[in-house]
Amino acid sequence: MLKAKTALVTGSTSGIGLGIAKALARQGANIILNGFGDSEGPLKEVQDIISSTGSGARVGYHGADMGKAADIEAMFDYATQTFGQVDILVNNAGIQHVANVQDFPVERWDAIIAINLTSAFHTSRLALPPMQKAGWGRIINIASVHGLVGSAGKSAYVAAKHGIVGLTKVTALENAASGITCNAICPGWVLTPLVQKQVDAKAAQMGVSNEEAKKLLLGEKEPSMQFTTPEELGELAVFFCSPAANNVRGVAWNMDGGWVAQ
Ligand code: NAD
Repeated sequence: MLKAKTALVTGSTSGIGLGIAKALARQGANIILNGFGDSEGPLKEVQDIISSTGSGARVGYHGADMGKAADIEAMFDYATQTFGQVDILVNNAGIQHVANVQDFPVERWDAIIAINLTSAFHTSRLALPPMQKAGWGRIINIASVHGLVGSAGKSAYVAAKHGIVGLTKVTALENAASGITCNAICPGWVLTPLVQKQVDAKAAQMGVSNEEAKKLLLGEKEPSMQFTTPEELGELAVFFCSPAANNVRGVAWNMDGGWVAQ
């Protein structure tokens, strides 16, 4: 379905981003991975999918720090030189820090706003002109239930995620009469390294096991008592890229086990 398209997924060496990159690879898209840590493992996982589907797509990697505008520009230069242009942009890179407002480290606030919100402005401003020329594009912003509701201790994250839902709506509206759509995905709990840290903190704070801490975390917010998976989120991203989603514009779609329905 996505043969000859190129997808750039930020923060895709782990978790949700890697799940989305793999789902788009299964549809035949070229994939550009980004993120910190080991890149060889994720590159191999995507290459194996490409080989098994026989799509002939390619996979590349750029290690841009999404907190730095110059790095993001360098990544787009790489994408243009190596793949022609970015047709599908998935703004996924994100970090978390938990502390009450009066105790929130200023440096953590600045980093969360830069990586979770401002990076999506930079990638979008760079991706849009070639998409507009081509008359087709997909921008998928990975927000969160925290783009729709708040939780104590997560001021910077909630502010950034509400911000990215706003950016999604404006980007969708500015391109509404074209083949470019922009939508946000709002996951509830997904058991990735980002959330495992919060499970570990809960286990230590309550003096309970890892499994009990997971149940406590889910029980506070998520009526389904199930984690959403990167694979499920990947399939939602594939839907947003499909012709059936041509007129889905500016939505913030939660996949959250009922969190926001309460
Ligand atoms: P994760 O920690 O597993 O992955 C985060 C990815 O971002 C990694 O590849 C990491 O290397 C990369 N990254 C971090 N800082 C970066 C930087 N400065 N530059 C480039 N890459 C950077 O986390 P995840 O849970 O998969 O989160 C992915 C996105 O999903 C985030 O935006 C997060 O806010 C959002 N989200 C996660 C959950 C959840 O429950 N896990 C829920 C809702 C939303």
